[in-house]
Amino acid sequence: MIVVMKSGAAPEQIQKAKDTMIELGYQPHPIEGVLRTIIGAVGDERGKPEDVEALSILEGVEKVIPILPAYKLASREFSPEDTKVTVGDVVVGNNKVPVIAGPCSVESEEQVMEIARAVKEAGASMFRGGAYKPRSSPYTFQGMGIEGLKILAMAREETGLPIGTEILDPHDLDAVVEYADVLQIGARNSQNYALLKQVGQSGMPVLLKRGMSTTIKEFLMCAEYILAEGNENVMLCERGIRTFETATRNTFDLNAIPVLKERTHLPIIADPSHGTGYWQYVTPMALASIAAGADGIIIEVHNNPEVAVSDGGQSLKPHKFKMLMEKAAPVAKAVGREI
Ligand code: PEP
Ligand code: MN
Repeated sequence: MIVVMKSGAAPEQIQKAKDTMIELGYQPHPIEGVLRTIIGAVGDERGKPEDVEALSILEGVEKVIPILPAYKLASREFSPEDTKVTVGDVVVGNNKVPVIAGPCSVESEEQVMEIARAVKEAGASMFRGGAYKPRSSPYTFQGMGIEGLKILAMAREETGLPIGTEILDPHDLDAVVEYADVLQIGARNSQNYALLKQVGQSGMPVLLKRGMSTTIKEFLMCAEYILAEGNENVMLCERGIRTFETATRNTFDLNAIPVLKERTHLPIIADPSHGTGYWQYVTPMALASIAAGADGIIIEVHNNPEVAVSDGGQSLKPHKFKMLMEKAAPVAKAVGREI
């Protein structure tokens, strides 16, 4: 917020404006010009409407300019209360921390069914699996497409778990909407604004992953694209960012969880599978995410990771996933939540 004083405003009027800003919780930063004084306010950059009004009516004030932030609907100021996103019968963003689990890729009916039964048995609340895969190389497996979506629907039919799957191409939107309960936007597409607008218009719950090189502010602007279409069902997913470190596939940005919880009302899901890239680091980072305040976690699970067509090295075998679930329960309890 910027307070512009009238040219020739008396020193007492400038002082009164500064005192009022302090009373309202802002830190005034006056800039004395030749003709007039401008006072910048540090605190809430945007300025609450009632504060803008209170300052506008002071003597000697010419105008008050609220600075609009890059994102608005996603901001905590817009909605101090946490947003809850409902997927099937699962509510994300309340006391319970849902666990989304399943393979990176849908490979066959047998593979999906076996994993779906195992994760359900271990306590997962949603199932994941990619039917359209955003592979870094065009020569690797690209996903089973519509056949994969049908297999996911069979897994839902049998286990009752809602299904999450990635949408890559707006042309596939109708098909994915028909079979899935939540649309995943992958890291590589997080700034594909045309796709974000389309999933916004679909009204479907969206799991928006953070791009590997997007800042938290840019990430929130991606969410803003979906929200601006009138779709409030957005979950943000931290999945690791690219840094100089090569010991892990990505650097899982645990910091992002409390930072996002402060800046946005949207639920935060942690993905330690892509965040680390190695199965042995997945459980520790899953537990850390819950302790840091994540509203849910998403974990890649494979019944035979050695022969998985994608991301086998970061996939937990079902028995390891079960152990993760057992360890997660007391961590959630320690921070006042439950699995
Ligand atoms: C995935 O979830 O399998 C995936 C491709 O994730 P990301 O977009 O985060 O790389
Ligand atoms: Mn994957």
